[in-house]
Amino acid sequence: MSSTITNTMPAIEHPTLSIVIPALNEQGNLSKLYMELNGVLFSLDMSWEIIFVDDGSTDNTWNDINSLHNEDPRVRGVRLSRNFGHQHALLAGLNNAVGDAVISMDADLQHPPEVITLLVDEWRKGYKIVKTVRIDEQNISAFKKVTSKLYYRLFSYLSGVDIQSGMADFRLLDRQALDDILQFKEEGLFLRGIVQWVGYPSSIIKFNCRSRLSGQTKYTLRKMLKFAWHGISSFSLVPLRIGILIGLISSSLAFVSVFYAIISKLVMGSAVPGWASSVAIISFLFGVLFVFLAILGEYLGRIMEEVRGRPRFIVSEKLYAAKSVNAEDEITASANSA
Ligand code: UDP
Ligand code: MG
Repeated sequence: MSSTITNTMPAIEHPTLSIVIPALNEQGNLSKLYMELNGVLFSLDMSWEIIFVDDGSTDNTWNDINSLHNEDPRVRGVRLSRNFGHQHALLAGLNNAVGDAVISMDADLQHPPEVITLLVDEWRKGYKIVKTVRIDEQNISAFKKVTSKLYYRLFSYLSGVDIQSGMADFRLLDRQALDDILQFKEEGLFLRGIVQWVGYPSSIIKFNCRSRLSGQTKYTLRKMLKFAWHGISSFSLVPLRIGILIGLISSSLAFVSVFYAIISKLVMGSAVPGWASSVAIISFLFGVLFVFLAILGEYLGRIMEEVRGRPRFIVSEKLYAAKSVNAEDEITASANSA
């Protein structure tokens, strides 16, 4: 293998294409993924690098990345000091990628490597962003399908930024679009939204999603909910405004009921009975009030996260020292150039 690698490796310092792959406990998948990628990338006739980002794995993922790197130096590794979550791991990889075009994909082979050829074709046509959307969803759970559809409909409605359901973090970004995205310093960067937001001519490729090769999904329900809320709260203030609407409706209702009470006292001379109904209304309104206080608190918390300006991830180790890393954003405990 090494002789073919040497022949097809003209510019390792500056690969044309970077593939960024976040991995959390994916030891069963990396070597198979590398083999498939190697085949596809070989046929593309361009220089490339693969950057695996170990997002705080507790299994052999980092050892596997090391072995792949020793076998083929075009495989590079970035190890985060703990689990920072998929989006931040992705960001760490994008930050370290040096290619003119950068593709991000999952480590579990759900994003088929052969689709890379189509992404690169679109890029060569001049598209700065090439997105993908899943069509054959038989390998996606019914729960995920339904929640994703509802969520993106809600997201698009609230934010005015149109995201289709079935769009994953499998996409190609041209260097120009990527550099723009790396300028965004927000803590809860919602890449799927930002990619739409930055604009540029873009193209969409449809692909059949495979089933996960090995291991379990790393997106627990808790992570999914957090991700969903981060997305909405970083793009929309509408949830805050719902409070105003409900406030207006409930005060009009209160006004009407006071008016009714006065009229019935004057006309019929009777006081309004109904202690139970007043208690019900009061507790309902208090409930609504607390919900909106909580929403307010959430946004306040997000503001605090942004104001603190903490780094979004910490790199503990690297399997190469890239030249054009966005150093401002990155804390590197020890850079281990191999
Ligand atoms: N992942 C990660 N950090 C996390 C969660 C996930 O790096 O905290 C990676 C994971 O290893 C995979 C990708 O993100 O490469 C997508 O995760 P997964 O396949 O578990 O999600 P699903 O496809 O089930 O939505
Ligand atoms: Mg997956």
